[in-house]
Amino acid sequence: MLKIGITGGIGSGKTTICKVFETLGIPVFYADTVAKQIMTTDTILIEGIKDTFGAESYFNDGVLNNKHIASIVFSNETELNKLNALVHPAVFRAFDEWDAMLPKHLPYSLKEAALLFESGSYEMCDKNILVTAPHALKIARVTQRDNVSEEQVLARMNKQFTDRQKLKLADYFIENNENKSIILQVLDLHEQFLKMTE
Ligand code: ATP
Repeated sequence: MLKIGITGGIGSGKTTICKVFETLGIPVFYADTVAKQIMTTDTILIEGIKDTFGAESYFNDGVLNNKHIASIVFSNETELNKLNALVHPAVFRAFDEWDAMLPKHLPYSLKEAALLFESGSYEMCDKNILVTAPHALKIARVTQRDNVSEEQVLARMNKQFTDRQKLKLADYFIENNENKSIILQVLDLHEQFLKMTE
């Protein structure tokens, strides 16, 4: 079974595109959702976080102390890199476990991750898709979806590679600019992936 990575900048619409692939019966691993879940379930990760950021990183009932972690990593790139160095390998482990449980007859699975390229995760995929959208449209989508300011969106964007950097690493791209049909673009890639597994 092929492993296909899919990524895109904040607000590019990668989750929306993945939902279209799901309608074709393709399973999708949402790395960012799983990353949040395993912060309270993966014992290796929990120990790593406590060792690095202190026991107060978790409350007595095992709930993650988000405020404590955010106060350390929010504006300190070194600390953010330390957190990522703990979380990314744990997400890779979770993906491998998830992938191993999938029915073997499936042609391919998708791994959706905001930091697919930044984390090095793309190297573990057979092919990688980049979802692109115009800068202004991405900002408009996220300010509306998350009810946040343009400045807050730009701060999140600045933590990610630019599309120009990502395009060099991607094998395929989907333009989600609301002019081109995303359904037709997904169907085209789906056909190409099916042919690869024939
Ligand atoms: P993030 O990295 O922030 O999770 P994302 O890349 O996964 O973002 P989505 O959540 O899929 O992006 O899309 C952002 C918003 O834009 C959502 O509210 C979604 O419904 C909307 N959107 C995405 N693509 C389209 C489209 N082609 N037409 C209309 N709305 C869209």
